[in-house]
Amino acid sequence: MKILKDLYNILMPRRCVVCQGILEPHEQYICTACSIQLPRYPLKSIEDNEPLRKVWDFAPVQYGATLLYYRPQSDYHKMITDIKYRGGEQLGIKLGQWAAMEMAHWQLAEKIDVIVPVPSDSKRENKRGYNQAELIARGLGNAMQRPVETFLERSKTGTSQTKLGKRERRENATGRYEACIPQSWRGKHILLVDDVLTTGATIGNCAQTLLDEDSQATISIFTLAYDG
Ligand SMILES: [Zn+2]
Repeated sequence: MKILKDLYNILMPRRCVVCQGILEPHEQYICTACSIQLPRYPLKSIEDNEPLRKVWDFAPVQYGATLLYYRPQSDYHKMITDIKYRGGEQLGIKLGQWAAMEMAHWQLAEKIDVIVPVPSDSKRENKRGYNQAELIARGLGNAMQRPVETFLERSKTGTSQTKLGKRERRENATGRYEACIPQSWRGKHILLVDDVLTTGATIGNCAQTLLDEDSQATISIFTLAYDG
């Protein structure tokens, strides 16, 4: 079996998700050099943190975790744009798996029942039609051994946001998504997943839409990066 594995590694070398360099046998997903330079978010608690507080303006979510600061000028930012623009399906899934490994000590997998990606909009979805939130969710689900379900969809009748005031925008925003949760999934703990959290509006409105559909649900959130 080891020969097969060695052969596989020669033919399909495992590559760093940031620099695409070939990984050493002891490295997982990201090479040591890139790992040292990652702008990690100093997550001290999943019960109270800055990105989570932003989302609380929009919905009462339970736990929140993020791994990185979103820094468009940094090298690692490439890995997020690669998912978007270079059709990095495998990359997106690997990032999700890496995220699950990085978060293992928070024991989120034990707390949640199901993983739901934030739906993409046309700006976010890349040319090959991938939703990067969904790829990250699939990687997480695979590593956490939890199912990934698409309970959320973008509403087809959303009003343009640009002419609205802040409050109207918030009220209108929940109308941008529609939730459909099957009976067997009601009252469960849902981990809502997106790639980047900025104002918290997107993931917060998605969380509220799920709660409007199922008031017995518990929602927690994970985003790969925080733009704060
Ligand atoms: Zn690297």
